[in-house]
Amino acid sequence: MKDLAVFIRALSVLYLFYFILTSVALFASTYYLFALLEFLCAGLFLIVFIYTYRGRTNFAMDFFGAVIVAAPTILALTTGWKTNFQWCLLVEILVLYFSLEINMDVKVKLFWVISVDFVMISFFTHVFPNNLDFSRGWGIYFHMISALFYAGIFHIIAYFYSNKFNAAEENLRDVNNKLREMASTDTLTSLPNRRVMNEHLTMLAYSYERTNEPFTIAIADIDYFKKINDTFGHEAGDFILKNLSDIFKETMKAKGMVARWGGEEFLFVFENASGNQAKTILEGMRIQIEKTDFHFNDEIINVTITIGLEDFSIVSGVESTISKADSKLYTGKTEGRNRIVY
Ligand code: GH3
Ligand code: MG
Ligand code: MG
Repeated sequence: MKDLAVFIRALSVLYLFYFILTSVALFASTYYLFALLEFLCAGLFLIVFIYTYRGRTNFAMDFFGAVIVAAPTILALTTGWKTNFQWCLLVEILVLYFSLEINMDVKVKLFWVISVDFVMISFFTHVFPNNLDFSRGWGIYFHMISALFYAGIFHIIAYFYSNKFNAAEENLRDVNNKLREMASTDTLTSLPNRRVMNEHLTMLAYSYERTNEPFTIAIADIDYFKKINDTFGHEAGDFILKNLSDIFKETMKAKGMVARWGGEEFLFVFENASGNQAKTILEGMRIQIEKTDFHFNDEIINVTITIGLEDFSIVSGVESTISKADSKLYTGKTEGRNRIVY
């Protein structure tokens, strides 16, 4: 709202100067009544200007809208088409349509009011022409001021609204990015979620068709996790999930990607390692986890994980590779857990 106040203030000042400076030319050319009329119109913009400082931006905006229709109408009808006051109405159409504060219905209605007014001015000023006869030099002065005013007013309007729209777009982009991040990250572990991993795997399978670059999929599941929840509480379970995720992330750095696949299941994809290399890496990680004492409150919690590992095969595709890894995980569970099955 503050920048709107500044905007209306800037426009009002420009109108104020325009009317006062051109009224001088009318006065000098002995059109005292017209000069007085213009001076009074300038006074109306002074009122708008003052209201923008009183924190009444809405009132100032409405009053400004009324004045920039009324003032040029009066001045154009009295001084004639050639004084160019009627163009102020087109400025009003521009301000009107750009205003976010006015709804579309009202905009269209006001547009018609202004347009009819504009056409009516054209009709009357040509049926009853009033070709002002400026005193020497004052005509040039009058039209120079008009030209400066119209260039200035279009500049201010374009500048203000393009800034405003750019800022709005930037804000939208930020919000969008944040939303995208929220939609792709698991909140508890900050790992990518299943949706992102699925997209990634689809992309890898697609590029495999062209480059033949192999990759390996592993699914890890925490052993007896339910028992950890039951013994130490759900919060302890969450704590373990977070800590294991940090270890997973660290392990997979520059080797591929790890995602939270389900509750206590994680999917790894190795892109820069063969199946055997992946197995060695995972074996190191498995032992590290087995040896780690996780301190939660005053308790020490030990966990192990079981992993099923499968090389991607273009013949069976991503889904089937994942199910094979899953079957191997299941085999690992039945064979006693805390192991990798490849
Ligand atoms: P197994 O060795 O056979 O995998 O046994 P398990 O107890 O780990 O397997 P099960 O599938 O029976 O239990 C998984 C548990 O994981 C059940 C569920 O309450 C817990 N779990 C899933 N997601 C979360 C979570 O976000 N936080 C916590 N604290 N627990 C979770
Ligand atoms: Mg499970
Ligand atoms: Mg489990």
